[in-house]
Amino acid sequence: MLYYSTNKKIKDIGLSDVVIKGLAEDKGLFMPNVIPVLDDNFYGNIEDMSFQEIAYHVANALFGEDINAGDLKKIVYESLNFDIPLVKVTDNIYSLELFHGPTLAFKDVGARFMSRMLSYFITKNGDSKANVNVLVATSGDTGSAVANGFLDVEGIHVYVLYPKGLVSPIQECQFTTLGKNITAIEVDGTFDDCQALVKSAFMDGELNAKMKLTSANSINVARFMPQAFYYFYAYAQLKKLSKKATENMVVCVPSGNFGNITAGLIAKKMGLPIKRFVAANNRNDIFLEYLNTGKYNPRPSVATIANAMDVGDPSNFVRILDLYGNSHSAITSEITGFRYTDEQIKETVKSCKNETGYLLDPHGACGYQALKDGLQPDEVGVFLETAHPAKFLETVESIIGEKVEIPQKLQEFMKGEKQTVEMSKEFIDFKTFLLKMERR
Ligand SMILES: *Cc1c(COP(=O)(O)O)cnc(C)c1O
Repeated sequence: MLYYSTNKKIKDIGLSDVVIKGLAEDKGLFMPNVIPVLDDNFYGNIEDMSFQEIAYHVANALFGEDINAGDLKKIVYESLNFDIPLVKVTDNIYSLELFHGPTLAFKDVGARFMSRMLSYFITKNGDSKANVNVLVATSGDTGSAVANGFLDVEGIHVYVLYPKGLVSPIQECQFTTLGKNITAIEVDGTFDDCQALVKSAFMDGELNAKMKLTSANSINVARFMPQAFYYFYAYAQLKKLSKKATENMVVCVPSGNFGNITAGLIAKKMGLPIKRFVAANNRNDIFLEYLNTGKYNPRPSVATIANAMDVGDPSNFVRILDLYGNSHSAITSEITGFRYTDEQIKETVKSCKNETGYLLDPHGACGYQALKDGLQPDEVGVFLETAHPAKFLETVESIIGEKVEIPQKLQEFMKGEKQTVEMSKEFIDFKTFLLKMERR
């Protein structure tokens, strides 16, 4: 399969380059030339397939021309070795729990898949001696998923840059205690400073001549596309519970950079019978504004208690435009939106717990509430529960006034020893450090 850039100046690029580059040279995002439609037989018995079987089938349609069957199967089975259960919350609302991976958030799926795919292409290109360096700036969740996803993956070194004192202790321990090929850099600055350092590194001629640099955020095809797999698995599980429920299936995605929902839209284009999508936002509601007005006005993000969705200029918005040929009416016919304030999110976490016993995290709460507010009587809704509530411990405990049990996996991280490199926010310091690491 070949890929083009959403800016249309670059086209017919192979998957290997797409994954290693991340972003196209014209600054657009890569999209596949063709979105393959899966045949009806697949949907006929999908309810009897495991997550890995479904993921492999979909992966084969997307990536099978570029990766041989045995290797692709290995990538899928090794990276997606945890369950993604569909849990009934009310009569017509289900939670797709995407938090059973190593860092208890949905980004594990994309990060683990991408690490193995990148490693596959590095090895195949005969570059196994040359390290590829993944640079990632994080306000918490992305760093932990990427660091754990790439841990021990051969030929890749990961640098996680995070703002000193500004990520929660639980998040911090998930990427600072790993060691090995993961280096955590504690920047004396804000998240924006971290992001600026990473951007400067990608643009620095000398650095790029001396080392291979790439990014692992959801602009990368290898990170965002595998997220399509679990939409098929959600459908399969719903079908197993009730064939009728899948007739009017609505999927709601708590969204920030819109990589997750874009993968769902691709699943629909592959023939998955999802009736429509709902994008749930916190106060960063630029997408909702676009749906309502047809105008897209990026702006600085505001801080909320669903902080992984604090994005003021969603990077995957251009992919959504591209998928629907820039047609506002085509987009609004398949996607609706809702936005919630911190107060509303708190109220939802509390009332859902009281009424159903189900504990939401602040991101999933936006998804659940958007279904409560937007489902038609004949529809069945699935929201993506993107993180485990214990990842936002202080917030969730203060809302419900009770202790939240911390899963074993999270407790293990908290036992590890913190190893970080302290860094100023000056690019020259970061650059000098990277060059020194490369010479080792
Ligand atoms: C990253 C993240 C989101 C937003 O996902 P996008 O793909 O950026 O839209 C939502 N919830 C949680 C918990 C996240 O970590």
